[in-house]
Amino acid sequence: MLDHLSYTAPEPKVIAGAKGDWELVIGLEVHAQVASNAKLFSGASTAFGAEPNSNVSFVDAAMPGMLPVINEFCVAQAVRTGLGLKAQINLMSAFDRKNYFYPDLPQGYQISQLYHPIVGEGEIIVDMAPGVARRVRIERIHLEQDAGKSIHDMDPALSFVDLNRTGVALMEIVSRPDIRGPEEAAAYVAKLRQIMRYLGTCDGNMQNGNLRADVNVSVCKPGDYERYQATGDHSVLGTRCEIKNMNSLRFIQQAIEYEARRQIAIIEDGGTVVQETRLYDPDKGETRSMRSKEEAHDYRYFPDPDLLPLEIEQGWVDDIATGMPELPDEKKARFVQELGLSEYDAGVLTAEVENADFFEAVAKGRDGKQAANWVINELFGRLNKEGLSIGESPVSAAQLGGVLDLIASGEISGKMAKDLFEIVWTEGGEPAEIAQARGMKQVTDLGAIEAAVDQIIAANPAQVEKAKANPKLAGWFTGQVLKATGGKANPAAVNEMVAKKLGL
Ligand code: ADP
Ligand code: MG
Repeated sequence: MLDHLSYTAPEPKVIAGAKGDWELVIGLEVHAQVASNAKLFSGASTAFGAEPNSNVSFVDAAMPGMLPVINEFCVAQAVRTGLGLKAQINLMSAFDRKNYFYPDLPQGYQISQLYHPIVGEGEIIVDMAPGVARRVRIERIHLEQDAGKSIHDMDPALSFVDLNRTGVALMEIVSRPDIRGPEEAAAYVAKLRQIMRYLGTCDGNMQNGNLRADVNVSVCKPGDYERYQATGDHSVLGTRCEIKNMNSLRFIQQAIEYEARRQIAIIEDGGTVVQETRLYDPDKGETRSMRSKEEAHDYRYFPDPDLLPLEIEQGWVDDIATGMPELPDEKKARFVQELGLSEYDAGVLTAEVENADFFEAVAKGRDGKQAANWVINELFGRLNKEGLSIGESPVSAAQLGGVLDLIASGEISGKMAKDLFEIVWTEGGEPAEIAQARGMKQVTDLGAIEAAVDQIIAANPAQVEKAKANPKLAGWFTGQVLKATGGKANPAAVNEMVAKKLGL
């Protein structure tokens, strides 16, 4: 399906150091909150913004004797995400305990999938420009619990904890170190978010912490990455640092840029980069050390004895596969192939599934390119200006389609269509009825057009001579005729008549 959208890989970002060029190598671990009403191992609600500690079951609070019960829907969501990333689905996976102490973690451990993740290798095609894309390999997706939230800024002497998020299902999506620049990293997260929003498996609301990324960055010399790719040997790459918990595409880019330059300066000074976890400070625009490898937690992973290995059946996976929606890459390819849209326009229209659905409703049975122009330029332009989402559009797909039908039948001109669109936007109503009621009808009656052309020609002999010498000036007559007819004459018909009368 995608083969016609053949793409070339973008150039990797090169940073010039004091002693030569450097390239970036980036791998992301994205935590995506599973779109689900209930938590991964309890029936408590996942609603955002609830009263603190109101969505906490005995399981989430880790009361003695409570046992986790896997939420089948969350498993299905992980499988759906895996299928969306063209990944291998593991029919057998297992949960491990990742042990650490923190006040927002009542169990004293997080249930995760270290050794046997539910999803194996997959890929994401990250679009950078029309015809330019990067294939980023996915290493794995595992299911795990989120922790609660400690709040240190509400009281000078006390810390608070909100356990509403405790036990909410997360998918950790781990990429291979295939990303080669800050823009690509942001585009990767955006594409992943887009795919999951199409699938309905993650809302992707980064502000609410719904989607956050740990960003691994290293630098290497030109040629090293190709050597890594050819051999699979990680050791030819530089030592990486991990920047934790990024929830803004802009900050991800800034942090990578800063971190790469920091590492380059260290290496060029004769030092060595230490593998560590760092935090990005957006106010200062820099990353700083959070903990080094030596201070890294020893999580003492072991299989969770409360949970049996998770076995799923191929038939169940197949059923999920059958119910999959069309994904952004496929939709975009179809818009290009079947509707003749440019890759750029198809990209704009498929960015959000709601936009794509609206466009398809407008384009159905009509000229695809014209529908795309109107949706992108008139509708999206207007929605942006007013800060409205497509769901809030005052003009429905049927109404916009009605305007396009009047253009297609030649009843109204493009100029009238814009006026009509404006009326439908502000007042609502059925386009054909409005056009009728307000006398918006372009004159294609050749007799009437001929009379108007004759009159303008007779009144402007000097202009006639000029236009005969320079046919480009014939447009002046068309303009005059349109003006004389109050913009109602069909411009194409006028043009033709003017040319005929002037003998051009
Ligand atoms: P670990 O074994 O510590 O879990 P992984 O090899 O699984 O480390 O990698 C964790 C993340 O770091 C992955 O997203 C991976 O792509 C990324 N990564 C690994 N090596 C590098 C590197 N040299 N530079 C940048 N990112 C890297
Ligand atoms: Mg790993």
